[in-house]
Amino acid sequence: MTDARIYLSPPDVSGVERKLLLEAFDSNWVAPVGPDLDAFEAQVADLVGVRHAVALSSGTAALHLALVAAGVRRGDTVLVPSFTFAATANAVMYLGARPVFLDSTAESWNVDPGLVAEELRDRAARGQLPRAVVTVDMYGQCADYEPLLDACDRYGVALIEDAAEALGASYRGRPAGSFGLAGVLSFNGNKIVTTGGGGMLVTDDGRVATQTRHLATQAREPVPHYEHRSVGYNYRLSNLLAAVGRGQVGRLPDLVAARGETARYYRAALGDLPGLTFMPVAEYGTPNWWLTCLLVDADEFGADRDRILEHLATLNIEARPTWKPMHLQPVFRDCVMRGGEVSADLFRRGLCLPSGSALTDDDRQRVVDAVHAVIR
Ligand SMILES: *Cc1c(COP(=O)(O)O)cnc(C)c1O
Repeated sequence: MTDARIYLSPPDVSGVERKLLLEAFDSNWVAPVGPDLDAFEAQVADLVGVRHAVALSSGTAALHLALVAAGVRRGDTVLVPSFTFAATANAVMYLGARPVFLDSTAESWNVDPGLVAEELRDRAARGQLPRAVVTVDMYGQCADYEPLLDACDRYGVALIEDAAEALGASYRGRPAGSFGLAGVLSFNGNKIVTTGGGGMLVTDDGRVATQTRHLATQAREPVPHYEHRSVGYNYRLSNLLAAVGRGQVGRLPDLVAARGETARYYRAALGDLPGLTFMPVAEYGTPNWWLTCLLVDADEFGADRDRILEHLATLNIEARPTWKPMHLQPVFRDCVMRGGEVSADLFRRGLCLPSGSALTDDDRQRVVDAVHAVIR
């Protein structure tokens, strides 16, 4: 008999979420409007420390509308980290704009602020400033916002924070999601907080929040008949799902603590093995420990990343390679890339270990034993 499957980052929902979901159902607010949506938005805005939150059907929808808020239009360029999930760059394409990809730093796996500053300086000199810069808080660790915001402010370029992976993390004491014109959160099934699919745009800017809410509800004008002055989207989150989100966000401190415990466990048990290096934790902040990832030096370790992945798979343990950078994706092959060595190396050698918040010590030990067994 094989052991029960250990997933990479499965949903971790409890009786609290179940009760709120059934209460929402019984209230008959089975619609993309209702008291749970209002409460969920207020709760997340408070947590992130911003004035406004708009619950949406996905993090990708939130990225799309954040870029609209930044004024991104057909033919514009937008700076995007290459080392990210495709949704970050796809949202730029939806608007007919072009992503320009930038490399990461090995110190945090996030976009290199020096490269962002250089690219903005060079583009300013050519009169080709991008309409926006999108940063990503990779694997639950914030990008380095002081130099990033400095650079964007100098050239008057909007910053959008893709904090899809980072709810609960902070940068110099400030919550992830609160940087720039707007922040983007995801409640997809694999994220630290899930609604089974959903997202949110968070912002201090009342105009951005109003516009986002308007566009997300088919751009319907506030008159009795159906009046439309712009092209809208059907992007609102269901009230039922918001009820689940309320329960999840209420448990966020525990969810972060559990993932932190996993990160410590793996570091203690695997950190001394030759050839394994965990994602560095930058001094400037506190991650939410969404996924614990490491780099494998095949010569030192005695096996490469793919060999570890294969062995874990035979033991019914789900692990994944780190993101494949956008500049190496066929769909973005015509896009400009600045640098690329770091993100290519992160992809070649990077491994994400099971990190769900419901992992037991037995599960963690199974993963640790499985990694040891590769070289035994
Ligand atoms: C998950 C994720 C998204 C997309 O969020 P969805 O809710 O799945 O649409 C965007 N960016 C990053 C970095 C992500 O990890």
